[in-house]
Amino acid sequence: MSSVLVSGAGIGGPVLAHWLTRHGFDVTIVERAAAPRRGGQAVDLRGAAVTVAERMGILEQVLAKRTQMLGMSMVDRDGNETMRTTEHTISAGRLDGDDVEIMREDLVAIVAAAAGGAQTIYGDSISALEQDADGVDVTFERGGRRRFDYVVGADGLHSNVRALAFGEESRFVRHLGMYVSIYSAPNFLDLDRWQIWHREGDAGYGVYSAPGNATIRVNAGFGAEQPIAFDHRDVEAQKRLVEEHCSALGWETPRLMKAMWEADDFYFDAAAQIHMDHWSTGRVTLLGDAGYCASLFSGQGTSLAMVGAYVLAQELGADRRGAFDRYEERMRTFVRLNQELATENPGGAASEESVRRAATAISLDR
Ligand SMILES: Cc1cc2nc3c(=O)[nH]c(=O)nc-3n(C[C@H](O)[C@H](O)[C@H](O)COP(=O)(O)OP(=O)(O)OC[C@H]3O[C@@H](n4cnc5c(N)ncnc54)[C@H](O)[C@@H]3O)c2cc1C
Repeated sequence: MSSVLVSGAGIGGPVLAHWLTRHGFDVTIVERAAAPRRGGQAVDLRGAAVTVAERMGILEQVLAKRTQMLGMSMVDRDGNETMRTTEHTISAGRLDGDDVEIMREDLVAIVAAAAGGAQTIYGDSISALEQDADGVDVTFERGGRRRFDYVVGADGLHSNVRALAFGEESRFVRHLGMYVSIYSAPNFLDLDRWQIWHREGDAGYGVYSAPGNATIRVNAGFGAEQPIAFDHRDVEAQKRLVEEHCSALGWETPRLMKAMWEADDFYFDAAAQIHMDHWSTGRVTLLGDAGYCASLFSGQGTSLAMVGAYVLAQELGADRRGAFDRYEERMRTFVRLNQELATENPGGAASEESVRRAATAISLDR
C-alpha cells in the first residue's frame, strides 16, 4: 500500500485524505495546531466544489450548516444606514443561487470527520524533507523520522512544505495590498442572519451573525501599499497592527476593538496570492493555498482546495506515474480563472458571470 503524508488539516488536507483512503492509500496527516483550528469567517462552496462535497457524501451535512444569510446593509461613521439589500451579501454574493456559504470551522469539522481513514497527528510539523527515487524521508519537529512514498503540502498560504521543497515564500507570494483579521464577539448588535459593513478609505469592518445568533464574526481590514512584515505566530502583535489601522474608524469601533482584544479565535493574514510555475517536485506536491492561494478576495480558496484534493487523489489513484503532472495540467486553467477573480474589480467583487465561469471551469471526470 502506498503511503502519503499530508501536512495541514485545514480544508484541502482532510478532503485529500478522504479520497486517497478511498483509492487505497495509507494516509497520515500532520497538523501544527494542537487541535482542529476554530475561527475564520464564512467561506463559500461553488460549482465543482459542491459536486466534490456531494461525491464525498457530506453535502447534506454542509447544507444543514449553511449560514442562511438574509441580506446586508452598509453604515456610515455615525451608524446611519446608507444601503440595504436582501439580494446579495459581500461574503456570499447572490443569495438565490446554488452556492453554499458555511462557517469555516463548521466545514473544517465536517471534512475532518470524513477523513476518518487517515491518522491525524496534531501539534507537530515537518522539519526536514529528503527525497530519492523511491520515497521521501521526513523528519518531524517533535522528533522522529519516517519514510513515505509521497508528501503533500496542504499547509496554507505560509506553507512549510513549500518552503522546504521549493524555497522561501517571497519568491512566490503576490500581495494584494490588504490585511484582514477575523474574530468572534458577543452579538451586541442583535444581528439575525444579517451583515453590516462600514468602510472609510481603505479600512473598515464587516460584521455578521454566526449561526444561532449568539455571536458575531468581525472582519476588520486595512490597506497597505507595501507588504508589512509580521510574525505569523504572534497574535498580540497582529492585534496591535489592526488597532493601529482601525481605531480611528467610526461606527462601533470602541466595542469592536475591545472585543478583538478579548477574542480567543483571532485570525489575521495578508490578502495575497501564490503563483508558482510548478506545484510539484519529485514525490512532493502542493495543494490549495500552499500551491495556488487565490486570496480571500476571490471567495474561492475553499473551493480550490476541495477540487484540487479531489483531482490529485483521482490522478494518484489512476496511475502513480505522472500523476502530479496530470494534476497540474487539469487544474491550471481552473486555478488561473479563480485567481483572476480577486483582481478583476479592485475594491469590489468580480462579476457574477466571471464567478460562475471560474467555479465550473474544470471537469471532475478523467
Ligand atoms: C484559522 C484559519 C481561519 C481562516 N479564515 C478564513 C476566512 O475567514 N476567510 C477566508 O477566505 N479564508 C480563511 N482561511 C483560509 C481558507 O481556509 C483557505 O483559503 C482555504 O480553505 C484553502 O484551504 P487549505 O486547506 O489550502 O488551507 P487552510 O485552510 O489555510 O489550512 C492549512 C492548514 O495547515 C496548517 N498548517 C500550517 N502550517 C503548518 C505546518 N508547518 N505543519 C502542519 N500544518 C500546518 C494550518 O494550521 C491549517 O490547519 C483561514 C485559514 C485558517 C487556518
